[in-house]
Amino acid sequence: MALLSIDQVSVAYDKVEAVRGVSLAIEPGQIVTVIGPNGAGKTTLLGAAIGLLPWRGRMSFDGIDLRRLDVEARIERGFCLVPETRELFGDLSVSDNLLLGGYSRRRDSAGLKQSLADVYKRFPRLDERRNQKASTLSGGERQMLALGRALMAKPRLLMLDEPSLGLAPIIVREVFKIIASLRELGVSILLVEQNARAALETADFGYVLETGEIVHSGAAADLMHDPRVTASYLGGH
Ligand code: ATP
Repeated sequence: MALLSIDQVSVAYDKVEAVRGVSLAIEPGQIVTVIGPNGAGKTTLLGAAIGLLPWRGRMSFDGIDLRRLDVEARIERGFCLVPETRELFGDLSVSDNLLLGGYSRRRDSAGLKQSLADVYKRFPRLDERRNQKASTLSGGERQMLALGRALMAKPRLLMLDEPSLGLAPIIVREVFKIIASLRELGVSILLVEQNARAALETADFGYVLETGEIVHSGAAADLMHDPRVTASYLGGH
C-alpha cells in the first residue's frame, strides 16, 4: 500500500485552480520528486497535503483518509513538511530549533535526547554551532537545520519544498547527498524541486508538473533521458 496516495486532487485560490486533477503515490522507502517551473503549483500541492489549504479529491496517508487527520495528528503519525528555511526561528539557537522540532514527542525525553545526538552525528556542522542563532547560519547550514529539525519528529514521510533554493551548486550537491542518505533511516521523501537534474539523480520516481497538471511521470532514471524532459528541464543534455 502507498504511504501517501494523492488521487485526482485539485486546489484553487479563489476561482483560479493552481493544481488540477493531480494523482501521485509514494511507496514506503521511496524518494519521489515533483519537478516543474516557477508557478507550476508545487508548493500549493504540498500545502494541501499537509493541511494548510483546502482541496478537492482524495488523499490518504498510510491508508487513512487525510480529511480525518488534522495537522497535529498528521505530524504525530510521522507526516512532516520541511518548509522553506526562512520559517526557522531566527532568534533561537540551533539546539532550540532542533528541540522545537521534537515538540510532538515532548513526553519521550529519552527518545528526544537520542534523536538530538543522532542529528548532531549526521550534521557535524550543526553540532559545532549548537548555540549559534539560526539567523546567522549560512544558507546550506540553514537547510541542514531545517532537515535536522524535521528528523526530530521521527518522520515516516518528509515533504521537502525546494531544498536547493538559493544555494551554491557545491552546497546543493552536499544537501542532496544528505537527502539520499536519509534512505538508510527508512524515511520516505516527497521532494519538490526546480533543480530537475539534482532531484532526478536523487529520486526513484519523478513527476513533471506544468501549470497545475502532471504532464510526464516515470522512473527518475528514465525521465533523465526522456527528450521531452531533457529539452525543457535539463538544458537539452
Ligand atoms: P515556485 O517554484 O515559484 O515556488 P510553485 O510550483 O511552487 O512555484 P505555487 O507557489 O504552488 O507554484 O503557485 C502556483 C500558482 O498559484 C501560481 O500561479 C501562483 O501565482 C498561485 N498562487 C500561489 N499562492 C497563491 C495565493 N495565496 N493566492 C493566489 N494565488 C496563489
